[in-house]
Amino acid sequence: MRGSGPVGEAAEGGTPRDPGFKSPRAHTQRFRLDDTLDVRDTAKYLEAITPDSPEAKSIIGEVYEKRFVEISCKQGSMDAHIWVYTGPRGDYLLVPRSFCSCKDFMIRTASTKKTLACKHLIGLELAVKLGKKREVSLSADECVRVVFEILEKNVSPTLRKALYTLQE
Ligand SMILES: [Zn+2]
Repeated sequence: MRGSGPVGEAAEGGTPRDPGFKSPRAHTQRFRLDDTLDVRDTAKYLEAITPDSPEAKSIIGEVYEKRFVEISCKQGSMDAHIWVYTGPRGDYLLVPRSFCSCKDFMIRTASTKKTLACKHLIGLELAVKLGKKREVSLSADECVRVVFEILEKNVSPTLRKALYTLQE
C-alpha cells in the first residue's frame, strides 16, 4: 500500500524540522582555514614586496589595470571596507596581507604552505603602495550582495555595475 499517512520522518513530537531551510553558512564552509596558518609570516613577506620584487612580475600588469578595488560599506556610523580583485575569469575577496578566496591561496598557502601568498595578495600590496587601487562606495546591503555573489557565482555583477558607472 502506498500513499497513506504522512510522508517523511519526525512528523510527531520531538524536534521540528524545516527541510526548506538552507543555511548561508554552507557556502562559506569551504573557506575554513587550516588553523596552523600563521598570517604574521604572510604579512611580513608582503610588507617587503616592491614593484621590483621578482614575485611582482606576474601581477604588476593587473595592478596598473586597476583590478584591485577597495569597497567602502557605509551603514550609520559604521564604515567597513572589503577588498576585491576583479579578474578576467572571476572575482576574489581579499583581506590585505592575510587572505584571498582564490584556489591557489587555499591550496598552496593556507593548506600545504608551499607559498606565503598568492599573486592577488601580492598585487593588492602593490596596488596600495603604488596608489593604483580603485575605490567605490556601496550601501551595506550592496556590500553583502557583492560578497555572496563572489562566493556563489565567482563574480559580482553588483560590483561590476558600480565600477562601470563610476566617474573617474
Ligand atoms: Zn589569490
